[in-house]
Amino acid sequence: MLLNQIREAEKIARQLEATPTQRTEWNVAVQHFADDFIKNVDALPSFGEDNGSIGLRNHPVSEEAKTMDFLLELIKKNVYNNGINCASGNHLGYIPGGGLFPTALGDYLAAVGNQYAGFFFANPGAVRLENQLLRWLCELIGFPTSAAGNLTSGGSIANLIAITAARDEKGISSKKVTKSVIYLTDQVHHCVQKAIRIAGLGEAHIRYVPIDAHFRMDADRLAQMVAADKKARLQPFLVVASAGTTSTGALDPLDKIADIAEKYKMWYHIDAAYGGAFVLVESMKSLFKGMERADSVTMDPHKGFFLSYGTGAILFKNVQAVFKTHYYRANYMQDATDGSDEFSAADLSPELTKHFRGLRMWLPLQLFGLKPFRAALEEKILLCRYFYEEIQKLGFEVGLYPDLSVMIYRYVPQNGMDANVFNEKLVEMIRIDGRVFLSSTTIDGVYWIRLAVLSFRTHLDTIDKCLAVIQEKVCELEKEG
Ligand SMILES: *Cc1c(COP(=O)(O)O)cnc(C)c1O
Repeated sequence: MLLNQIREAEKIARQLEATPTQRTEWNVAVQHFADDFIKNVDALPSFGEDNGSIGLRNHPVSEEAKTMDFLLELIKKNVYNNGINCASGNHLGYIPGGGLFPTALGDYLAAVGNQYAGFFFANPGAVRLENQLLRWLCELIGFPTSAAGNLTSGGSIANLIAITAARDEKGISSKKVTKSVIYLTDQVHHCVQKAIRIAGLGEAHIRYVPIDAHFRMDADRLAQMVAADKKARLQPFLVVASAGTTSTGALDPLDKIADIAEKYKMWYHIDAAYGGAFVLVESMKSLFKGMERADSVTMDPHKGFFLSYGTGAILFKNVQAVFKTHYYRANYMQDATDGSDEFSAADLSPELTKHFRGLRMWLPLQLFGLKPFRAALEEKILLCRYFYEEIQKLGFEVGLYPDLSVMIYRYVPQNGMDANVFNEKLVEMIRIDGRVFLSSTTIDGVYWIRLAVLSFRTHLDTIDKCLAVIQEKVCELEKEG
């Protein structure tokens, strides 16, 4: 009876092992889909208005098996052509991501073998591979060889790990939170404020250090504020600087901030999620001076290393500090303790079982070698500078000369229309047009359009197209007003 039941269940359960024929069919169909997409990626609209995802809603998960072709069609209509086309070189808004093809193959290989990268014991090779990448990142930013890191899902979680480590290393227990002080600028990425809340530091004093005309933290003001807080018997324990802000790409004075952090024994975190990769460009290196003095640095390989979404990195000098927050041993893990000289990812982040994300980073870097990465990053900087010159020829006002590959600009119309309204409309018209995608920011009540160049598919022809689209839409709007 029991054996019969088992056999009955087994018959159906075995359907979960794809047959060789199924695997071939599915592989071919997916490859065809990918080839077709990549062939057309820059011709597709850079933004698709929401189509309601009707297909998805009409075909929920059910008892019925569906065919790959049918499902790929659902994905194409409802996912791939809906919203921002983030793989396109025409994506010049926010911080564009990447989508290097070998990222997908790395994911495939990680998933096919279901490799376990959380613990050294489970897969020494996977852990070594990830740690090797992390040590390489540490070396890039000038951290000592004793430094370590963790590959996260993105910059937000990387910042969160840093902030929880800072909290625990500086002994900010719940009783002390209301006396503790954190310093940042209003230009930090909002995930920093979120991380502060998640870390239970919402009741800490958050000091927004004034910024200078370049949108960089004013280090002298920081020093004054920390001194005043000390005097008031508060506990300054954390300063967060940005190496490449999201709004304008500005770098805070990293070295000067390091002096202050050191003097007052504060944890020094640098968010280099956007800017960090540019250390690969020789001529940019000096901009990052002082980064090596941080306690922790966030990088985001799914930005400046052009990977597909899902890979960030947190690097830290003092591994023990991160252990304070994340190291834990459970009885059922007793077989997994190891005497290895490698750190396990599970001891350095909240994750236990995790995606083996190292492979999606390792494979593209190894397949292409570093040379094209350096060239692409340099190209992005040069393209931004080119745009900076050319947009002024179209009568635009510009923000400061770009440090990296993000800049801001706005048109002051001659037709009497309010400049903020005009530029907002302009961005909307460009989005609807779909040839390029731009985003905007507001600084001190002034609406600015942003250009963010970071897709590996963005080249000179893209920027020329962008300029042409802008010119065309400005003419239309000027006539309207
Ligand atoms: C993108 C970004 C983040 C957030 O990273 P995610 O990968 O989106 O989670 C944090 N800080 C800066 C400066 C960023 O550019």
